[in-house]
Amino acid sequence: MLKPISKIASGVQASTTLAIDAMYKQMKARGEDVVGFGAGEPDFATPERIKAAGIAAIMSNLTKYTPAAGLPKLREAACYRLKQDCNVDYAPEQIVVASGAKHNVYIALMTLCDPGDEVVILAPYWVSYSEMVRQAGAVPVIVAASEAQDFKVSAEQLDAAITEKTKVVMLNSPSNPTGMVYTRAELEAIAAVCVKHNVYVIADEIYCNLVYDDLEFVSFASLSEDIKQRTILINGVSKSYAMTGWRIGYAAANHEIAKAMSNYLSHSTSAPSTISQYAAIEALTGTQEDIDEMRLQFEERRNHLVEHMNRIPGVSCLKPQGAFYVMMNMSSFLGKTMYGKKIENDTDFAQLFLEKGKVATVPCTSFAAPGYIRWSYATSLTEIDKGLDRLETFIKNA
Ligand code: PMP
Ligand code: GLU
Repeated sequence: MLKPISKIASGVQASTTLAIDAMYKQMKARGEDVVGFGAGEPDFATPERIKAAGIAAIMSNLTKYTPAAGLPKLREAACYRLKQDCNVDYAPEQIVVASGAKHNVYIALMTLCDPGDEVVILAPYWVSYSEMVRQAGAVPVIVAASEAQDFKVSAEQLDAAITEKTKVVMLNSPSNPTGMVYTRAELEAIAAVCVKHNVYVIADEIYCNLVYDDLEFVSFASLSEDIKQRTILINGVSKSYAMTGWRIGYAAANHEIAKAMSNYLSHSTSAPSTISQYAAIEALTGTQEDIDEMRLQFEERRNHLVEHMNRIPGVSCLKPQGAFYVMMNMSSFLGKTMYGKKIENDTDFAQLFLEKGKVATVPCTSFAAPGYIRWSYATSLTEIDKGLDRLETFIKNA
């Protein structure tokens, strides 16, 4: 009889988003006519200029190890981008490049948390946050906002959730899965609570370039010097530049935290792929016209999807302001029987919708939002219409 694996590892769940994406891709590979709204992954190709930079790196033999926290030029490029997009000043030594923003969040938690520390997660939240907190040996504390609050947690709710043990607050704006964007006033109120209780904030701003209707994006670290000192700002190239597979993310933090995160990386991944780092330099410093074009297309898709979805009897959604997700309210089906099966929760609905309707979506229980289904509209207008037509038929024939 072998000894058990660690208590921490045995408590960690697999990622729902990635599990659904794998299931969808498998069905597609089997030749099934399935439509995918599962994983949040832009359908656009990585822009040519960025691919060319990756190819040039290979051809110039720029294929060796780099410093653990990334190439100096990439850390400079991240500072430039953060100044342009987020209006915050960082020095290159404060930037830590990792293998995707997900890895940056993970390393940030490993750096900040001791066993038993509490981490407050503003919900609905991206599924990986709570599992990463557990992997760091800390305790996730979920504070959820309802649809009536536009899915945004208030400063008062946060204040009530913070205890002596709270070390970190996790904030994601624009949000996955809600698509909502916190306003300057809302962020200022949250910042005041964080300073009052002396807690750190992991501000995940990976969707900062995907904000619609000319709405203002406010970076949490830009609010004051006090808040910047305690913020670990997370960003990356996956979403804005259609570079999910290149695996480059970056964090910006005070010097002490940045150094500690870099030390962690030096003993784990050593550094992210050198080739991808060269491509990311081009992404962050080259023309941004290509990403503006992608944003316009996302906005058009959002408008179309929201309008079409709200015409379907039995379901509804708020109009998201950023990212590329819509939360569909399916609670009118709870307790009803569809295709001979009682719908107990959103997971039952999503499973049946995939099986019978041939559409892949993500149930939001894993985002702490039961009664909702997440649709990623990082797919074409044709696929969006096809998916929604199937939803209508799926409901009608149930
Ligand atoms: N943060 C959020 C909120 C996300 O939705 C994602 C999606 N994967 C990430 C971070 C991580 O992105 P990546 O690791 O591809 O940079
Ligand atoms: N973040 C995306 C999503 O939420 C990609 C998959 C993942 O890493 O979770 O679907």
